[in-house]
Amino acid sequence: MFRPQIENLLLQTLPQPYRDSFLSHMEEVTIPAGTVLYEAEEAPRYAWFITSGLVSKMVSMSDGRTAEVGLCGNEGVVPSWHLLGGMSHGPARCIVHVELKAWRMPFSELKKEMDRSAVLRQLIERCVHRRSMILSQIAACNRLHGAEERLARWLLTAHDLTGHNSVMLSQGFLADILGSRRTTVTLAAGALRRRKLISYRRGQIQILDHRRLEDAACECYETVSQLFENFYG
Ligand SMILES: [Zn+2]
Repeated sequence: MFRPQIENLLLQTLPQPYRDSFLSHMEEVTIPAGTVLYEAEEAPRYAWFITSGLVSKMVSMSDGRTAEVGLCGNEGVVPSWHLLGGMSHGPARCIVHVELKAWRMPFSELKKEMDRSAVLRQLIERCVHRRSMILSQIAACNRLHGAEERLARWLLTAHDLTGHNSVMLSQGFLADILGSRRTTVTLAAGALRRRKLISYRRGQIQILDHRRLEDAACECYETVSQLFENFYG
């Protein structure tokens, strides 16, 4: 199970005294659940180094259907892909699932700082690399695995990233996360609830039996956990 011990793993990995000087250029913010950090095809105004909370990167199709392509917590910087390759926008929107506490700096300032600091650039490159590997696993998972095992996988990863056993999510949000119809999500959540692996009341999902929920999750949970573990190793 991946559970960072520090506030933001990327910041923590920066060498001193550079870390203190870098932090002095940032402000600490709290951002409520439901906030869109940046829209698809929009250059983000800020970059956020999350210290607690959870965001999802979601891609929507022209017919309105949506699926999650990434789940980020305090392991790195958001956005990350936008910082490399000379393209400051992409197909995903980024939305806050669990209230964020984060250090933030203007996106353009972080880009300039990456040109000045080789160590910062290297850590951000590693962050992008790991997240790209996680994305490829999630892409296959979204296509090949059933809603029930994907829901179990998502809840376990959300738990590992936040340290919380419960999360508030509407059925619409859950359907978007899983790229499934609401009825499919209702059936999946109902099946996990009947097996007493989770409780689900008024949008609050709580993990009741972590070990058995791991058994119910697809193999992607283990693969993604291993990728989160030793993130900058
Ligand atoms: Zn899977």
